[in-house]
Amino acid sequence: MYEQTIHLHRNAPNKPAEGQACNGCGVCCALETCPAGRLRFLQSKGPCPALTWSDSEARYHCDLLVDPGKYFGWLPWSAEAFIRRQLARWIAAGKGCDCSAEIQD
Ligand code: SF4
Ligand code: SF4
Repeated sequence: MYEQTIHLHRNAPNKPAEGQACNGCGVCCALETCPAGRLRFLQSKGPCPALTWSDSEARYHCDLLVDPGKYFGWLPWSAEAFIRRQLARWIAAGKGCDCSAEIQD
């Protein structure tokens, strides 16, 4: 079994079981980057630079999805909505948790 140490915010929610609704625990993106993150940041290991903690919502967000213009600034503003749609599809945002990692505190 492969073991990896990750660091998450102390108030991050516990990771749900694979297939349950994503709660923004941040585990997947702390472990490794998704295809979009690999393309943008040229790294496969986590934590992804776009993994962003929200104090107000007590969960992590993908900043690449929230603010694509910050990361793809060379693209015209009109491309932002298109990129956001493509990213959401690519990383399956809003779908169930697809991370099979087992967590030990
Ligand atoms: S997909 Fe799973 S591991 Fe990733 S943030 Fe959502 S709940 Fe956490
Ligand atoms: S979903 Fe966002 S934060 Fe997570 S690895 Fe992909 S680009 Fe990074």
